[in-house]
Amino acid sequence: MTYQPYEGKIIYQKNLTDDLAIFRLELSDKSKILDFKPGQFVPLGVKIKDKVAYRAYSISSPPEERRYYEFYIRWATKPVLGKITSALFTLKKNKLIFWRKPAGVFTIEDKKPNGTTESRQMILVSSGTGIAPFISYILHLRKVGSKRKIVLLHGAKYVAELGYKNMLERLASETRDNWDFTYIPTVSQLDHPSSTGWTGNVGRVGDLLIDIDNHRSELEKKLGKNVTPKNSFFYICGYNNTINRVISFLTPLGFVSNRNKRKDGSFDIKSESYGE
Ligand SMILES: Cc1cc2nc3c(=O)[nH]c(=O)nc-3n(C[C@H](O)[C@H](O)[C@H](O)COP(=O)(O)OP(=O)(O)OC[C@H]3O[C@@H](n4cnc5c(N)ncnc54)[C@H](O)[C@@H]3O)c2cc1C
Repeated sequence: MTYQPYEGKIIYQKNLTDDLAIFRLELSDKSKILDFKPGQFVPLGVKIKDKVAYRAYSISSPPEERRYYEFYIRWATKPVLGKITSALFTLKKNKLIFWRKPAGVFTIEDKKPNGTTESRQMILVSSGTGIAPFISYILHLRKVGSKRKIVLLHGAKYVAELGYKNMLERLASETRDNWDFTYIPTVSQLDHPSSTGWTGNVGRVGDLLIDIDNHRSELEKKLGKNVTPKNSFFYICGYNNTINRVISFLTPLGFVSNRNKRKDGSFDIKSESYGE
């Protein structure tokens, strides 16, 4: 059986840089979009030479927003122009976009395998556009009045690529209803014009976890306590090198990933890879 894809149009595009943008997509008939869980992705399709080609994109809006899906997308340009992102970034007004239903299991763990509530602090580690699913997590958790401690680490090349920075700073300053959210951005290229005057962390996102075993990592300094599998659950999203590097810092501390669960089914790290 072949399923008809959903179709609609881009109703909003905000370019952060020449090759990084936030897109919003609504259905052609403007009806409510299909429900999803924070952390899921949508296969987005563009018609190229009469054939629709699809790629996965994490939804960055929360499920409470039913008018549109939001995405945070980088135009893949090297070594050659990416097929779908080139089409998206150069799309003619009113051109149709296609998508299939939301999918994926990179969702928030609310329960442990033994049925008890998962209450450990959530540490969300992202590089580049890997922040997208975490924006959905955070906006959703704020909407439902979550009291879990949430820490977001985001690594970008330079300041202009710290997408959602203003909104995240605002959310980090809120404390109403026991909201407890910490935002820790880091940039790796200080020589870029947009990084002028940057006084925050410098380096890749994994660097925030270095020396974690001596309780001297930037993350632990910021939190004022050490990070252990007992008090923290890590979510990691981005390309494989970020995920593997972060896991390599956490494994010696006893953290276990969902790729390699303990015998009782428990784990302390969940990750989503965007590819190589
Ligand atoms: C679950 C999931 C969620 C994702 N979420 C996001 C997201 O939120 N935001 C986001 O920006 N991306 C996301 N991605 C990545 C996205 O799906 C695409 O892989 C990405 O946008 C590139 O697609 P493209 O069609 O433009 O590039 P493609 O045409 O697929 O090319 C991909 C890369 O390969 C290179 N390449 C292509 N052909 C060649 C060749 N012949 N020789 C050498 N190199 C070549 C290109 O230069 C490019 O860098 C996600 C991926 C997954 C799996």
